Parts: sequence; C-alpha cells; structure tokens
Amino acid sequence: MASALTDKLSRLVKTISGQARITESNVTDMLREVRMALLEADVALPVVRDFIARVKDKALGQEVIGSLKPGQALVGIVNKELAATMGEGVADINLAAQPPAVILMAGLQGAGKTTTTAKLAKHLIEKRKKKVLTVSGDVYRPAAIEQLKTVTAQAGAEWFPSTPDQKPIDIARAAIDYARKHYFDVLLVDTAGRLAIDEALMAEIKGLHAELKPVETLFVVDAMQGQDAANTARAFGEALPLTGIVLTKLDGDSRGGAALSVRQITGAPIKFAGTSEKIDGLEVFDAERHAGRILGMGDIVALVEQVAAGVDMEAAQKLAAKVKGGGGFDLNDFLAQIQQMKQMGGLSSLMEKLPSQLTAKAADMDMGKVEKDIARKQGIIHSMTLKERSKPEIIKATRKRRIAAGAGVQVQDVNRLLKEFEQMQDMMKKMSGGGLMKMMKRMGA
Ligand code: GDP
Repeated sequence: MASALTDKLSRLVKTISGQARITESNVTDMLREVRMALLEADVALPVVRDFIARVKDKALGQEVIGSLKPGQALVGIVNKELAATMGEGVADINLAAQPPAVILMAGLQGAGKTTTTAKLAKHLIEKRKKKVLTVSGDVYRPAAIEQLKTVTAQAGAEWFPSTPDQKPIDIARAAIDYARKHYFDVLLVDTAGRLAIDEALMAEIKGLHAELKPVETLFVVDAMQGQDAANTARAFGEALPLTGIVLTKLDGDSRGGAALSVRQITGAPIKFAGTSEKIDGLEVFDAERHAGRILGMGDIVALVEQVAAGVDMEAAQKLAAKVKGGGGFDLNDFLAQIQQMKQMGGLSSLMEKLPSQLTAKAADMDMGKVEKDIARKQGIIHSMTLKERSKPEIIKATRKRRIAAGAGVQVQDVNRLLKEFEQMQDMMKKMSGGGLMKMMKRMGA
C-alpha cells in the first residue's frame, strides 16, 4: 500500500546517518526524496511544494535529539507536520443554527454522497440524539432519489419525497418547510451527482446554497481519486464556502494522499472518513493515524528500521511503553511488521537477527514457501477494513467469510492468521517488561 514511500524514507534515513544536525546542505537531499514520495502517494504538486517548504522551515537547524539520526528526525518532523496539517480545525458537525440545521452535501457522482448522507443521519441520531430528515435534490436520476430513500430507512431517519419533474430549489424549500413544521433538528440535503465539473450543475448547487443557507456544506470526496481529487476540490472550494470534508473509501487500498491535497486546497477540515459501504462505516477522521498511513510507518516499522540502522533506545523505550500501557499491538502493526520483513532483504537475514527462540524454529523452514505465506498474509490483512485491523476482536464468522473471499483464500487461512497475530500480540505483551529492551539490544548487536 504505502511501501514506496516507506522504502524511500528508510533509504534516506540510511543515507543521512551519522550527521548530527539538519543543515541546509543535507536537508535538500532529504527533502527531494520526501517530495518524490509524496507525489507518488498522489498528493497534488502545488500542495507538495507548499508542504515541503513548511517542513524545511521547521527542520532547518534543528538539533537531532538523543540517538536519532538527522534522517530519522526529519521523518519525525514530516510525520508531525502531515498530522498537524490534516488535523487542524477538526470538529464534529456544527448544528448551531435555528432548527432545522441544514447540511448540504456536495461532490462528484460516485464520490459517496448518498451513502454518506445516510451514514451521517445515523451518526447524528445515535451520537447527537437529533431528529433527522433527508431529501434528495438529484432530479436527474430517479434511481438516486430511491437510493436515498432506502439508505435513509436503514439509518432510522425520515426521508422527504422528491420527484424528477421538480426543480431542486423547490424541493429544498418544501423540505425546509416540512422540517420546520415537524420539528426536525437537522435537514440533510443530498445533491445531484456530476461526473465532472459542470458549469450548469455548479450554478445549481450555488443556488441551492444561497436558498438553504446551510450551517455545514460538506464536500464528499473519494480517497481513491488521487490527483483528480485536488482538481475537484479546487472547483468546489471556489464555488461554495465549504465547512468540512468527508473522505470516503478509506477502506480501499489508496495511500490517502488526497487527504492532504484536499485539506490544503479547500482550507476546510476533514471531519469524517468513510470506511465501508455499510451504513455504520463512518468514522471521525483521525489525522495522526492517517499521516501514518500516508507515510506507511507504524511504530513497529519505525522501530525495526532503527534496528536495521543501529538500535535506537529511545524509540525502543517508547514502543515498550506503548505495548506495556496497553497501547495495543494491532493488525496494522502486524502488517507493518510483515511488510518490513520483506523489505529487509529477505527473511534469512532477518532471522539471524531475531531472538534465539525464533531462530531455532526458522532453521527448519523452507524460505520460498515462507515468502509465499507472507504474501498471502498481506493479502488477507489488505482485505480487512481499517476498523477490523485496529480491532481484530470484531472479526467474527461473517467478516471472516468476506475477508477470505476478498483475499481469495479459505476461512481457515484467515483463522490461522488471526491465531498467529494473537500469539505475536501475546509475545509483545510479555516482552513489554524489560524483555523487549533486551531483545532490541540483541538485535542491534
Ligand atoms: P454518490 O453518487 O456520490 O451519491 O455516491 P454513492 O453514495 O452512490 O456511492 C457510490 C459507491 O461508493 C456506492 O457503491 C457506495 O456503496 C460506495 N461507497 C460510498 N462510500 C464508501 C466507503 O466509505 N467505502 C466503500 N468501500 N464504498 C463506499
């Protein structure tokens, strides 16, 4: 998923090792690699330029703390800046308006507007205890109106009927009127899909905005759109005063670079992430986690890299504290570890570095078979949603069947992987005392 960037960053960590300070001369090389990597993650070019300039400012002259190398320190700065940029201004949905608080949904066709409208309705009903009405202004596709009706019912909200012979603006007026008379707290307005930016439809949604005076105007964008997401965001941002972004399809395999582009171009905060096709697949956007995804570096990846480049005790202590504090070793960490193994120049060399109780086992393994097994495991974890990866305990029979089908394996393969993960998690817990530190020392030796 994010391995290209991880590759690059780990390479530059190694290139720059041994210098004690980030200087004008070494930062240029390091940032060139970061720039290439962000472009590969589908972040739009002007956004990358801006971002790099900010990171350079922050990094220059910075003392490198503890046993970190400048390259490592820079990765830390990049990661922090990514999270800060994407996380700035995040807040829940604003409902501070004379009821009904109107929420206008905007975005390209297929971005996930209708699905997100229903997910949001459910969120507002369950988390904010609101009475919610939905309405569709998509008079061009009768199927879209029907789709909203279906998903609204699933969300437990009420749906206001509209028909293709009506004007969107009339539908909006009627819906507001109905919402007022029946004491709805929130009115969610789904709008016509556009396949690409289209002047007439843009004018229509602007008109709707002027009429509805929404308290939130949410731009719904598909995370898989990569570079295109930036152009769409610019057009919608210029047409409408966006108050928030919903990034959908984050359960897919994209590296999520679109998040940075869209955030920076529109200036609007990313409020939610869509994480499945289902009605409950909506999560509050977590910028730090997403920065990790763009960079492809979980704690464990970072740690193992440091092992390869020489042990970093500070990081080891941090990981030990995380594991000990129940911070949790989840399937994302497990996946990161598996990926890292592949990158570290083959398993046999890694095995040599592992503690003896594991190398003993490795001695009678067929390495070719093991590599294939790793690929299968990666496939299985990639077929899981982000939620399943962070909370493996929710993976019961139905999910297992779906994951197995997605990865093209049997359910017992999924079971085997989960079992192995549990053993690893157990081991991490056991080692969290002083054992991990001992293991790190041995690995670095
Ligand atoms: P609209 O044209 O913008 O209203 O888009 P829809 O709501 O009809 O969504 C388009 C497709 O994307 C549908 O098949 C949805 O099920 C799917 N979809 C929407 N959000 C998500 C998401 O967060 N994850 C996944 N996997 N699929 C999604």
